[in-house]
Amino acid sequence: MIKICKTISSVRNQVMEWKRQGLTVGLVPTMGFLHEGHQSLIIRAAAENDRVVVSDFVNPTQFAPNEDFASYPRDLKHDATLCEAAGAHLIFHPEVEEMYDQDRTTAVHMTQLNNELCGKSRPIHFDGVCTVVSKLFNIVQPHRGYFGEKDAQQLMIIRRMVRDLNFPIEVVGCPIIREEDGLAKSSRNTYLSAEERVAARVLHRALTYGEELVRNGERRVPVITNSIRTILEEEPLASIDYVELVDANSLQKMDCITGAALCAIAVIIGKTRLIDNFFIAPEELQ
Ligand code: AMP
Repeated sequence: MIKICKTISSVRNQVMEWKRQGLTVGLVPTMGFLHEGHQSLIIRAAAENDRVVVSDFVNPTQFAPNEDFASYPRDLKHDATLCEAAGAHLIFHPEVEEMYDQDRTTAVHMTQLNNELCGKSRPIHFDGVCTVVSKLFNIVQPHRGYFGEKDAQQLMIIRRMVRDLNFPIEVVGCPIIREEDGLAKSSRNTYLSAEERVAARVLHRALTYGEELVRNGERRVPVITNSIRTILEEEPLASIDYVELVDANSLQKMDCITGAALCAIAVIIGKTRLIDNFFIAPEELQ
């Protein structure tokens, strides 16, 4: 059976023991309710490290009061089975009180990158993410941390934080895992009704069209984002939060694609906010 640690001291003791034996450690931070997207990160971590820690913690500081912290799905038993099958060695599953002291006064604050894309409608989100990931990095002290490209802005923010704060940790980005019809796998997909689940296909459909335009030589950002928007608007159950094509390093808007870029969308289907994206690498522009 996979080891489940609920305290910071127990996970630290285990990792220290592994490091004494000269073993490398990979960390996969998650909020649990794991699916094949998370599984792909764990499999990659297991291939690149001797030991893999999966943190399974719904982090309250990254949710605004009107968001779904309380109702976020949780299933530790299912998560343990999936982690074990994917090759993880330890699950860190702390209570909120173990992670956050009532009288804490310190947090990690990101600037600039957190004001763009998802940060506009979720203003406290990325500070919560940076704070909890810093804590997890300090608790586990892994050699590598694994994050999905599904949350592209999060991945870029974590990379920047690791650079800016000198964490001696390699950040590994992993590709988006999708359902058969193209919808990016997400724990929040379980919120969708049958009708909404069908409607949610529009995200991938719209992005695929946008990607195709770029592949066919289109470089004008408004042409690409407007085409994506038009497809999304055809779906009556969808309402757009944002459709943006930005510089992949600064997340700043641009008129024309000249280098590495990120096309990201957030769409609300019913009451569920879904995100998806595609990257454009400079070599694809030649
Ligand atoms: P979450 O539990 O939603 O916080 O996600 C934990 C990690 O899994 C994050 O780094 C996500 O980007 C990653 N992840 C979630 N869904 C997917 C997916 N469909 N494909 C790849 N990575 C994913």
